[in-house]
Amino acid sequence: MTLPAQDGGVRSPAPHGAAADARSAGGALDLQLPAICDFSVTNVCNAACDFCGFSRDQVPVGPRRLVDADAFARAVPILYRRGIRYMTLQGGEPLVHPEIVALVSAIAGGGIRCA
Ligand code: SF4
Repeated sequence: MTLPAQDGGVRSPAPHGAAADARSAGGALDLQLPAICDFSVTNVCNAACDFCGFSRDQVPVGPRRLVDADAFARAVPILYRRGIRYMTLQGGEPLVHPEIVALVSAIAGGGIRCA
């Protein structure tokens, strides 16, 4: 992969995070991206930020939802095979999910880093 440079030439992007992991042993960029998956595990939140539609003080737009932990665990190997190496869990507030430990364990057990 090359990027336009300020001088009109082209340059390769600097190795950084997931992109660095995508480089093969020979240094060529192996485009199995995206390597990052942002996943919302619930639309529930216990905070009350004024600007946010997930706030506990807002009228819910739809039903409160929690991702099914077993289905999530089945999805992790698929994500790994598709090149995902980093996941962020989001919400709502992901820590209100009653099975958050199982979700994080499934990610870590599947060889994916979790934040
Ligand atoms: S989801 Fe984040 S921004 Fe929204 S109410 Fe909860 S803590 Fe605040």
